[in-house]
Amino acid sequence: MSMPTHLTPSQRSELASLLQTTVQAIERQSTLHQEGLSLVEHAQQVLQQDGDDAPQRAGDREVDFAVSERDGQRLVALRRAQSRLNDPDFGHCIDCGVHIPFERLRIELEALRCVACESTHERKF
Ligand SMILES: [Zn+2]
Repeated sequence: MSMPTHLTPSQRSELASLLQTTVQAIERQSTLHQEGLSLVEHAQQVLQQDGDDAPQRAGDREVDFAVSERDGQRLVALRRAQSRLNDPDFGHCIDCGVHIPFERLRIELEALRCVACESTHERKF
């Protein structure tokens, strides 16, 4: 049995629009990022005709992939938050059930835990 959410309808709709804005911003960024990546790849193809410092460029590419993977994980978390927004238990810590304050949710839209449980959780990994 879960308690009804502590968020008011206007707080909920503020979170909904913040989520949407953030998701769109990341999507735009990662589209630019992918375009950047393909430009890099194109440049590589051109440069490979000369052959030379290929290992250096391979390293740059790994950094690019790491960045987009992090964006991808955040996108998944944000989309999950969007789909849970109207659930009665949205905004409750998934570990202890306490209400996550609106101010925390505003700053960390994908937050699933209260601050105390979040730090315990992070220490485990
Ligand atoms: Zn908690």
